[in-house]
Amino acid sequence: MSSGKSTILVTGGAGYIGSHTVLALKQAGYEVVILDNLVYGHQDLVEKVLQVELVIGDTSDRALLDELFNTRNIGAVMHFSAYAYVGESVTDPAKYYRNNVLGTLTLLEAMLAASVKKFVFSSTCATYGVPEVVPIPENHPQNPINPYGATKLMVERILSDFDVAYDFKSVRFRYFNAAGAHPNGLLGEDHNPETHLIPLVLLTAFGKRESISIFGTDYPTPDGTCIRDYIHVSDLADAHVLGLEYLLKGGDSEVFNLGNGSGFSVREVIAAAEQVTGLNIPIQECDRRPGDPPSLIGSGEKARKILGWQPQYPEIKDIVTHAWQWHQQRHK
Ligand code: UDP
Repeated sequence: MSSGKSTILVTGGAGYIGSHTVLALKQAGYEVVILDNLVYGHQDLVEKVLQVELVIGDTSDRALLDELFNTRNIGAVMHFSAYAYVGESVTDPAKYYRNNVLGTLTLLEAMLAASVKKFVFSSTCATYGVPEVVPIPENHPQNPINPYGATKLMVERILSDFDVAYDFKSVRFRYFNAAGAHPNGLLGEDHNPETHLIPLVLLTAFGKRESISIFGTDYPTPDGTCIRDYIHVSDLADAHVLGLEYLLKGGDSEVFNLGNGSGFSVREVIAAAEQVTGLNIPIQECDRRPGDPPSLIGSGEKARKILGWQPQYPEIKDIVTHAWQWHQQRHK
């Protein structure tokens, strides 16, 4: 650790939240190595924008992991790589348990073997299931209603047990709805297939889709559509750097929600996008999508208090504006 800062292994660093965090880590002065199997990650982004080392491979490849830990001065791991399509997790749970749970366990065992015991984990508000209280606090019961949430909860459980048995320290972040794009316009959300509301709304604004489907208009919410807590991806990235520094300073294992504590309905998001783009966005009212709780809002108070996290872009207008800038340069 010649510079005084350790090298950070970032799995899934070529993906959406991972790539924003890699940039934030670089700006904070860390050496970064990305491990990404490029199933959903973007190699061009790593080469052109992030400009850090990319190791192409899988978290289930123990030999590769051992080599990485033996040849790099890795002080901590940030683990973003996971499959994250809720619907697919219902129809093909084996794929999710294998990758998200077994892949993570292999990574954790390789870390133990290398005596690297600091871990920042991407968990999710999907571990809570249907909330009993909103905004959801971290001590809310966790009863996931889909296999995706279940895989993340299993890893959370593994991490708790590893702490007791092996003094393995982790920060678990339960994200609400990651959205937006880096204000520099060079990084953004690029899933294939795309299922998330904000990018689909913007693709509709672009004319790349005929209309945006509203999944359910009969929810017990003021306008009948689902409410979500949209959190800017750069604010998520900042939280990760703070979480890492907390662990590097000797902090105990902790779990934090990353949400703004306020929510927007599907109709409100579409209205914000019409305002930002100045374009008319045709809608189609559809049936509910299975597995969608009516309202998910997370209290980010604990992260503010313990990590000193200060979200910069809590406004939906900023989130949509940055996403729009990214889409404009991506599809020009
Ligand atoms: N949604 C929608 N139309 C779409 C995509 C999403 O109405 O084409 C709704 C979805 O039912 C949910 C909200 O938008 O209530 C956010 O969905 P998204 O898939 O972006 O994130 P999730 O909440 O599933 O993590």
